[in-house]
Amino acid sequence: MFDNLQRELRRLAETKEISVPLESDAEGYVDKECPAKECLFQFKIHAEDWKNIVRDEEVFCPSCRHAAPAESWFTTAQLEAAKQYALGIFTNALNGAMRADAAASKQRRNPNAFLSITLDAKGGRDAVPVPVAAAEPMRLRTKCESCGCRYSYVGAAYFCPSCGKNSATHTFAQTLNTIRTAARLGATLRETLGPDEAEVMIRSLLEKAMQDTVMSFQRLAEQLYDQRGNTARRNAFQNLEAGSALWEAEIGAGYAHILDAAAINSLGIYFQQRHFLAHQQGIVDTDYVIRSTDTTYAVGQRLVIRETAVLEFADLVEKLGFELIARSKP
Ligand SMILES: [Zn+2]
Ligand SMILES: [Zn+2]
Repeated sequence: MFDNLQRELRRLAETKEISVPLESDAEGYVDKECPAKECLFQFKIHAEDWKNIVRDEEVFCPSCRHAAPAESWFTTAQLEAAKQYALGIFTNALNGAMRADAAASKQRRNPNAFLSITLDAKGGRDAVPVPVAAAEPMRLRTKCESCGCRYSYVGAAYFCPSCGKNSATHTFAQTLNTIRTAARLGATLRETLGPDEAEVMIRSLLEKAMQDTVMSFQRLAEQLYDQRGNTARRNAFQNLEAGSALWEAEIGAGYAHILDAAAINSLGIYFQQRHFLAHQQGIVDTDYVIRSTDTTYAVGQRLVIRETAVLEFADLVEKLGFELIARSKP
């Protein structure tokens, strides 16, 4: 009586592998996600380059440079969709109707989907969901100067996923522009989201913009410094004084030779704020009040990052970065 079903069950029991089609987006890019638990950075690689340029043995995270074999970079959403797809295959097989198309259509993107943006925070990273439509103008598309791999991301990311090269010099100005775009998203978010939700997201984006600005400068300085045959101590350029001292020794010009006193003072405050956002959840302590010379806050207050501050910070970092590019040519 159940001959067909029994035959089908036996066949399914022997199934060890189901290939799941992965759709690329309208521009031909596929989603990837860093497998490092503390990172989970999301980015895209052009499907052709993923096939032809990227090596199976090693892929790099554009944000943290974690390296892992090519099979480890599926996104959480893709794995979930694949599970649904595989389940669909079994169900359909048992129903005697292999309608894989129907299952595949289940994994199509929800147009209201959120893009998760990772934030550095004490003890790991928080993911902030930003509506995809709002995040799209923040997406930076780039092509590695060394290997030609095309990839894209939102936020600050500097390593080519295919060859691992630091691409900060190439993307520095563009990265700062996407940071400015993110800082200016306030009005759009207030229009599209509820007021409370919008405020939380705007605060996250502005805080992330401060962190990305420092990161963009850090990666640029590291690359310029390395190009002259040095290796900087890890995170040396996250610190304004330490970084300035390295350049003073290397090219005879510290930051005070490059920018005026008012600019250096503002940069000092913003770098300190970044430090407190990343390590103290933005809570001001005595150390901040003394070191930043910022008199706006009392100990125990939480930093409030304004759009104007992010824009000024991006301008200052851009000016300093461009000067270092010009002055550090070997
Ligand atoms: Zn990563
Ligand atoms: Zn490359």
